Amino acid sequence: ATPMSIMTATGRGAQAGVLIKNAEALERFEKVDTLIVDKTGTLTEGKPKLVGVFPEPGHDAAEVLRLAASLERGSEHPLAEAIVQGAEERGVGMAEAEEFEAVTGKGVTGKVDGRPVALGNLKLVHDLGLEAAALTEKADFRRDEGETVMFVVVEGKVAGLVSVADPVKESTPAALRALHELGFRIIMATGDNERTARAVAGRLGIDEIRADVLPEDKAKIIRELQKRGRKVAMAGDGVNDAPALAQADVGIAMGTGADVAIESAGFTLVKGNLDGIVRARRLARATMRNIR
Ligand code: ADP
Ligand code: MG
Repeated sequence: ATPMSIMTATGRGAQAGVLIKNAEALERFEKVDTLIVDKTGTLTEGKPKLVGVFPEPGHDAAEVLRLAASLERGSEHPLAEAIVQGAEERGVGMAEAEEFEAVTGKGVTGKVDGRPVALGNLKLVHDLGLEAAALTEKADFRRDEGETVMFVVVEGKVAGLVSVADPVKESTPAALRALHELGFRIIMATGDNERTARAVAGRLGIDEIRADVLPEDKAKIIRELQKRGRKVAMAGDGVNDAPALAQADVGIAMGTGADVAIESAGFTLVKGNLDGIVRARRLARATMRNIR
């Protein structure tokens, strides 16, 4: 590509809300055939809201929420914010947590009022040597609505579920349709549960779902696809997505996302929606055509 045509493309990109880091990113993007999208914050708004607290028999909903929210005050995860805000809105007071630990891709653990508390997905429950089979039906009911379900463990027993909802961005369905028409194979990769992922993918025209994925596995999935000769772009917004964005032939960060994601990416979508990818593809094609 000539420096001039690249400059024109980056200028046009910027006007359209796509920041292009360098010529290589634009050149590589023209060859991309597979687009991996993170769910939370990329397909969805990324601002989850607490929608339900479901205590087990013998437990009180307000108390389950108080323990969960007290612990989540120590976490910066969007799910944590949803739970803390949900507690505030419901007038549930919070306590100081001790021995707080974030378990990447799984949840959080610590002590509240001297009682061991943990909150997270089934992997975390299993790590604690516990089972939650009796709650599967209840959890699946929420997951089928696209909600993310977390288990609250208090003193070595599952005390209840909390459920959060994160709606799909208004711009997502049309953007995915356009990306399909441009010929991309679209794969959703998420740390969330398979059932929730399926419900969110719904009628979005996603070709494949990879759920229950640990953050480090997103980069692995990309490497495998690349070994099979696929050219892969990855769109994500989270701190967790940075290694995958760096591994991809083209990393695409949401401008609304974490700084490390933006630093690891070849493109940044200023408005934080997928429309920018459609524009970037057209720009890449036009630029490369001018050059050949
Ligand atoms: P994503 O791919 O959606 O960004 P993560 O890898 O950050 O997801 O998290 C995967 C799953 O781990 C979440 O769906 C949730 O069940 C659990 N989890 C992670 N962090 C937390 C937290 N702070 N509190 C509760 N659950 C969490
Ligand atoms: Mg994310």
